[in-house]
Amino acid sequence: MRSGHPWVFSESVRDLNREGQPGELAVIYSRDDRFLAVGLYDPASPLRVRILHQGKPAVIDAAWWRDNLHRALARRDGMFDADTTGYRLINGESDGWPGLVLDRYGDTLVLKLYSAVWLPRLQEVVDLITAALAPAGLVLRLSRNITPAAQRDYGIAEGVIHGQSPDTVLFLENGLRFEAEVRHGQKTGFFLDQRENRRRVGLLSAGADVLNTFSFSGGFSLYAARGRARRVTDLDISAHALAAGDRNFALNHHLRDVASCTRETIQADAFEWLAAGQRHRYDLVIVDPPSLAKREADRAGAITAYERLFASAMKLVKRGGTLVAASCSAHVTAEEFHAAVDRAALPYSAQHLWATGHASDHAVTFTEARYLKCTALRLH
Ligand code: SAH
Repeated sequence: MRSGHPWVFSESVRDLNREGQPGELAVIYSRDDRFLAVGLYDPASPLRVRILHQGKPAVIDAAWWRDNLHRALARRDGMFDADTTGYRLINGESDGWPGLVLDRYGDTLVLKLYSAVWLPRLQEVVDLITAALAPAGLVLRLSRNITPAAQRDYGIAEGVIHGQSPDTVLFLENGLRFEAEVRHGQKTGFFLDQRENRRRVGLLSAGADVLNTFSFSGGFSLYAARGRARRVTDLDISAHALAAGDRNFALNHHLRDVASCTRETIQADAFEWLAAGQRHRYDLVIVDPPSLAKREADRAGAITAYERLFASAMKLVKRGGTLVAASCSAHVTAEEFHAAVDRAALPYSAQHLWATGHASDHAVTFTEARYLKCTALRLH
């Protein structure tokens, strides 16, 4: 805790002066009764206290909360110009708001809660956010694990909780137009964490025939198209995701390079489709699967699955072409991910182009928050 780790697990609590309510402030003392930290209490979670502040004692009052919000917002100062209107304003623990995410898409804000500690404080939080940022609309999203308790204990449900917002909001990312499904889409409607990696893919795409597996709404493909790819093929299991990709392409048709890029879609299970082996070879293959290790217990199996998946994708890369591989599994470390990529690349002479993580608006202050890994390899 002294080094800034934001969680206290239930088994490390030695003594409580009384049982706390969800979201109550918990003050934590060391064995020798010295103040350590203050956090938000969750009696129902193994993650018993989420730290708000550690070090010297502090008064957690309205002014402290306001400062806490402004500190998070100030971390984004100078990161984006008017060509990027979709980005993360608060990234949970790493921004001093444990279990809470706030994303901006144009004039709409999406608040996503991953912990019940925020439920009794929701109105306070909404008032703070709307006073500071004056959004046209604020949409509330809840992680699946807290949805039943939110409804049952607080009468809180997902939806627009301030102002107005359409279900689908348009925004800009590095000058490209995208839609975010803020009401019903995955995460808060878009995968903002891959922004910088998408930009890097644009740089690898001139003249390329590109296969984008697990394409979701075509993010990587649009950067490839703007980077003058000859053809992009989006592959996803979800017809809904592919249709969103169609719309995102249409939104950018005013860009000559996007208009002249051929776009194709394949609706399939990418694991099966890649494992089946295909005759066609691509200049660039992108593999950005959903998390393969949802729990620590899945870790070993996930590493094997990544290796197999990347190996089957590499077989579709032309000689001298590039594979871009990513993993968003928090339980798989960067070392384990890169080792899996390297094992898959053993049959080739591989040149490592880059290895990155998430975009910088996804502030990270502790190991467990560093979930995204991405790398590009040229294969000879
Ligand atoms: N690269 C995307 C994000 C990918 S999210 C971006 O930059 O925005 C993961 C995607 O994988 C989702 O769209 C989901 O529909 C898709 N998916 C999940 N399981 C799949 C499978 N077995 N085969 C193909 N696609 C799958």
